[in-house]
Amino acid sequence: MNEPAAFDPRSAAIRADELQGRIILVTGASQGIGRAVALSCAEHGATVLLLGRNGRKLGEVHAKITGQHGAERAAIVEFDLENALAGDYDALFAAIEQRYQRLDGLLHNAGMLGQLTPIEHYDVPTWCRVLQVNLTAAFVLTQILLPLLKRSDDASIVFTSSSVGRVGRAYWGAYAVSKFALEGLNEVLSEELSGITRIRVNSLDPGPTRTPMRRQAYPAEDAGLLATPESITRPYIALLGPASRGISGGRFNSQ
Ligand code: NDP
Repeated sequence: MNEPAAFDPRSAAIRADELQGRIILVTGASQGIGRAVALSCAEHGATVLLLGRNGRKLGEVHAKITGQHGAERAAIVEFDLENALAGDYDALFAAIEQRYQRLDGLLHNAGMLGQLTPIEHYDVPTWCRVLQVNLTAAFVLTQILLPLLKRSDDASIVFTSSSVGRVGRAYWGAYAVSKFALEGLNEVLSEELSGITRIRVNSLDPGPTRTPMRRQAYPAEDAGLLATPESITRPYIALLGPASRGISGGRFNSQ
């Protein structure tokens, strides 16, 4: 007898209205991968909460979604993951609870690169900033939003990983360490929630993608050879929607 094929979000079947009626928060939705995934979530029927620091760029994404799908289908969350305090997180929880009462998806996509330099020379304040934005903020945001995710019939949390968060690579410093730690958080949280909630938790490595962060890391490469953010959104939709029901604690790739 053949074993059932392992779940792969790159090839999972996805309906045009896969995310119909879902409320999904995307961090780092102002540009790059987060922007493309937010737009794709809306295309697939979701209402998207666009989190980032830059109100102008978020406004452009918001206008695109609401122009195509209606005024109720997006909301802007101006939020600085580096400097937010407890009261900011409480206010975010209260605003989402008041308007939507629940949350069906949480994509931790926001990130910063920091320095590419040997550990021996790594700037300590930069190390702390990178771990704050990439790791600690994802932990706090998850913790504060868990009560809203528990109210969903089919909630999904996705952590954004990287190849350097799965195999260590010289000079990637705090960025690599933060991604390794996110993989750990993914496994710990998935185990804690399985069986007692309907929340699934997975990590996704988008792979080399043509974005401002990639340009910062590889300024000399030919960006034209890279995948565009728009071309890698499908696995995100599969992990955020019913296609991945029952799948938790997994590590997946977009490319
Ligand atoms: P970009 O640098 O293009 O976008 C990063 C996003 O994170 C922006 O929307 C930015 O918002 C947001 N962000 C950064 N700092 C903060 C903060 N303090 N508070 C709130 N939002 C913040 O990155 P990519 O699109 O390339 O990367 C997206 C994710 O994918 C990251 O987690 C990255 O590590 C990962 N990744 C990317 C790869 C690639 O090749 N591009 C490969 C592997 C992983 P703002 O407008 O406020 O700056």
